[in-house]
Amino acid sequence: MVVAKPAITFVKGAPENAYATRNGYAPEAVCLHVAAGSMAGMDSWFANPGAQAGAHFGVGLAGEIHQYYALDQAPFANGAIEAGYTATLIDGNRDATGKPANPNWWTVSVEHAGQSGDVLTPQQFAASTRLTAWLFAEVLLKGGATGVAVDRDHIIGHRDISPRSRPNCPGFSSQVFADYIARVRTLLAAPVPVPVPVPVPEWRAFYIAELRGAVVAADDDERDANAALMRAAVRKQTAQGKLTAAGG
Ligand SMILES: [Zn+2]
Repeated sequence: MVVAKPAITFVKGAPENAYATRNGYAPEAVCLHVAAGSMAGMDSWFANPGAQAGAHFGVGLAGEIHQYYALDQAPFANGAIEAGYTATLIDGNRDATGKPANPNWWTVSVEHAGQSGDVLTPQQFAASTRLTAWLFAEVLLKGGATGVAVDRDHIIGHRDISPRSRPNCPGFSSQVFADYIARVRTLLAAPVPVPVPVPVPEWRAFYIAELRGAVVAADDDERDANAALMRAAVRKQTAQGKLTAAGG
C-alpha cells in the first residue's frame, strides 16, 4: 500500500518535553488530541522547555501539519494512565511484573488546533486522516509491533488513556472516530491510479474503416496479392500501436 506523504513542516520542540527514545517499544497506535488552542500556540508551547508537554504532530484548521519531534522520540503527550481507561493496548504493553509501559512509548501523538467539541474543518480532517494513513503505511505497520490494525484499538484518543483528567481530549463523538477510521482505511486501500485509455480519435477510426473497405475492394481475385499486403500493413500498424481500433 502506498499513501502519499502529506506536506509536513518541521517546527522544533524542546527536547526537555520528550523522552529521547521509545525505550525499546515500537509505535503501534496513533493517539488523537485537541490542543485547546491554535497552531501558533502549540508551536510556542512545545518549544518551551518548561512546558513538559509535547506531541509529534499538530494539524491546523487549514490542513497544515507541523512536526515537533522525530518519530523515534516520545514527547510527553499522554502519559497518565487513569482509572477507567479504554485503550486496550495499555494492557497489551505491561511488563512481566504487570507494570504498564508509558503510553508515550507506543503511540504517535497528533494534536488538532481548536477547542474540544469543535468539528474538524474539512481541510483539517483530510490532512489528519492522510497523516494517520501515511503513519500506518510507513511507520506503524513496518515498525515491528504485531497485531497493528486500522481500528479503534490503534486509533485512540487521549481520553482513552486519561479519562479522568482529559475526558474531552479530543471531543470526537464515536461517530467522528468511526468516520476518521473509515477514511484512513479508504486511503490505505486506494489502488494506485491506472492510466485511463485514450479513446481512438474519430478520424483514426474512420481511416481504419476506410482502409478495411479498401482491402476488401482490392481483393479482386487477381494474383497481385494487394489484399494480403494491405492486411499485413494494417496488422503491422496495429501491432506498432499506430492503429488501436479492434480488428485489423
Ligand atoms: Zn490530549
